[in-house]
Amino acid sequence: MKKDCIKVAKKKGEPVRRLLIEFKLLDNSARINSDPKYLYLPLSRVPDENEVKLLNEAEGSESIEILESDFEEHAGKPKLEELLENVPHFEIIGDIALMESDVPEPEKVADAIMQVKSNVKTVLVALSPVEGEFRTRRFRTVAGEDRTWTIHKEYGCRYQVDLEKAYFTPRLATERVRIMEQIKDGEIVVDMFAGVGPYSIPIAKNSSVKQVIAIDKNPHAVELLRKNIELNSVENITAIEGDANVEAEKYATMANHVIMNLPHNAHYFLDAAIKLCEPNAIIHYYDMTHEDDLFESSTELIRVAAEKAGRNIEVLNEQTVRSYAPHQYNVCIEVKIL
Ligand code: SAM
Repeated sequence: MKKDCIKVAKKKGEPVRRLLIEFKLLDNSARINSDPKYLYLPLSRVPDENEVKLLNEAEGSESIEILESDFEEHAGKPKLEELLENVPHFEIIGDIALMESDVPEPEKVADAIMQVKSNVKTVLVALSPVEGEFRTRRFRTVAGEDRTWTIHKEYGCRYQVDLEKAYFTPRLATERVRIMEQIKDGEIVVDMFAGVGPYSIPIAKNSSVKQVIAIDKNPHAVELLRKNIELNSVENITAIEGDANVEAEKYATMANHVIMNLPHNAHYFLDAAIKLCEPNAIIHYYDMTHEDDLFESSTELIRVAAEKAGRNIEVLNEQTVRSYAPHQYNVCIEVKIL
């Protein structure tokens, strides 16, 4: 197909291409052409006077050359690599793309994501790390619909999440399956820090558990958890809004599994967790640890709490779940409480 294009010497191609993207002048439906010396950048419209001036500056010439040339159509959508010089890391949660705060030129990246990923309706940039008692983050909408809620699918379950109101990360998806696979028929599971339910719901959905007790202190998280119980038509879950230390008292020696996904602070809840355990129950204890002491100190905290309650422990598994920061890891220690 014939199209207007800018002919530019290859060594000047990149700054001109970037400007065309910025002005939304690059026609992504056509493949960029080249010969040994020149690039031919297809145009979606004729540049105005000011744009021509800036393109001249980028190319270092008096007058850029606009001509008509033949182009091949792009098969499908352009790739992000074709729209961006450096493609930063981003996560997709439902129809939201989520970038970290250190991504340069977030608006440009967001535009490219919206062009390439037709399922993305919102692009957010994080304004804070995971923070506070409820482990939430703040965000800014960079492109698309201004919202932080979406429906996320994971291993056959659907979760309504609101990234600003309650913790959720897709990064633990495989870890959650690993835990789910350990649960046996007829068991009772206490998820002490359940969030919107990504541990509790698949456990209740995929196994014949007797009961999952899902506790969270954040009212928004529990509201979403209740919606997700309905959304996934699961039974045998009791959603409880409250402090895990207090609520655990009501289920003493009932649990076969206790999930403690509150890295950094789970040790404050160890006495309650041990009280929950029937003999031979398993605690799945999450922590963030340094590479020089991945498991030892955390295991010692569990041992001390167990001994205080007159119980012993048997360490079943030490799992590195993911890297968290330089030299820091998210780990899971699985311990039988005898
Ligand atoms: N397990 C969920 C997941 O994987 O998405 C949520 C994990 S998030 C790291 C920790 C959760 O613990 C948050 O939802 C927070 O609201 C909750 N939380 C914090 N302190 C709590 C407490 N004292 N009692 C119960 N829940 C608490």
